[in-house]
Amino acid sequence: MLKQHSFDQINPPARLLMGPGPINADPRVLRAMSSQLIGQYDPAMTDYMNQTMALYRQVFVTDNPWTMLVDGTSRAGIEAVLVSIIRPGDKVLVPIFGRFGHLLCEIARRCRAQVHTIEVPWGEVFDPQRIDDAIQSVQPRLLACVQGDTSTTMLQPLAEIGEICHRHDVLFYCDATASIAGNPLHTDAWHLDAVSAGLQKCLGGPSGSSPITLSEQFSAQVRARKHVEQGIRNAQHQDGDEEMVYSNYFDLGMIMDYWGPERLNHHTEATSMLFGARECARIIAQEGIDQCVARHQIHGEAMVKGLQAMGLALFGDLAHKMSNVTGVFIPQGIDGEQVRQLLLNDFGIEIGTSFGPLHGKIWRIGVMGYNARKDTVLTTLAALEAVLNHLGFVTTQGSAMQAAWDFYE
Ligand SMILES: *Cc1c(COP(=O)(O)O)cnc(C)c1O
Repeated sequence: MLKQHSFDQINPPARLLMGPGPINADPRVLRAMSSQLIGQYDPAMTDYMNQTMALYRQVFVTDNPWTMLVDGTSRAGIEAVLVSIIRPGDKVLVPIFGRFGHLLCEIARRCRAQVHTIEVPWGEVFDPQRIDDAIQSVQPRLLACVQGDTSTTMLQPLAEIGEICHRHDVLFYCDATASIAGNPLHTDAWHLDAVSAGLQKCLGGPSGSSPITLSEQFSAQVRARKHVEQGIRNAQHQDGDEEMVYSNYFDLGMIMDYWGPERLNHHTEATSMLFGARECARIIAQEGIDQCVARHQIHGEAMVKGLQAMGLALFGDLAHKMSNVTGVFIPQGIDGEQVRQLLLNDFGIEIGTSFGPLHGKIWRIGVMGYNARKDTVLTTLAALEAVLNHLGFVTTQGSAMQAAWDFYE
């Protein structure tokens, strides 16, 4: 028998999450999520679904009617977009500038795409001309690209790439999970055909819901494919049909039938997550999407000023850095993991480690969503500086926090 205390009520330690995500959820989102459940087709519920669609059009800066939630973490949105559009043998071009580019390739390959890649070293982004050249030589049906890759902190400029895809009649999908609401993203103006996101970065919620938006062109091409449910309904479906979407749960054609006026039963919408996702978007709509992006830029820059004042070197091409994540070189002679542990145990602050080629070389510090605030920036800088001095990396104590504070003036 397990001891009674093993089953204490959930009561996580107080943490300030200043890594590359997840971050602390806005208390308003947590309150919305604790609301009582209602039936799947209760008019109150379908109203909430419609409102959620309208609110996310503001977040994505789009008029796309097909703007909705995929239930699951950000990866669910990515997978739904890719599995719903890619037919076996389709050519997909993926420009890779970090870990999440590799994820897009991995999923596209599982969809039986012919995947072509181009790469830049970590810490850089693509020149649009290089993407234009690759499109002309590969002639893909789809370009799949990350906007902000938290693994490298880089932000790929998309406006020109959208123009290029539009000109060559290539569908353009973007994973904006880490960048949306913290950096400009203009779905319609930039000709993005599909964009997916998640709540746990700048949207200020928990992971578990993936907002997506689809252009007319993209949704029409998804709709033109065969969907299992139609097959079941019409008893006409044949196995091995190339036009079949190879997923039931992530079949956007069926998810559209569920979110659209038909209200055809698919899954049971994750009601509590929808309440949370709706509140994330409502907070941003109240603040204004442009103001929300500007807030991330201000607090991100204050963090940069503070880190530089401490004498720390920053990673990557700073002209193309995401506003909401900063890569910081771990100084020579300092144990990066020991710093993270002291920050967590003595200050309750979490900062991020890093993956792959950057492992052991940089920390990643996030300033995003509910945590993109003056107090969180100043507290994190003061704590990091204290820990570094404690371990022998000598700075003028207080210089980092003062630099950020002065920047705010
Ligand atoms: C953080 C992040 C994700 C997260 O995916 P989850 O399924 O929510 O863990 C996806 N894409 C990018 C670019 C990210 O930075």
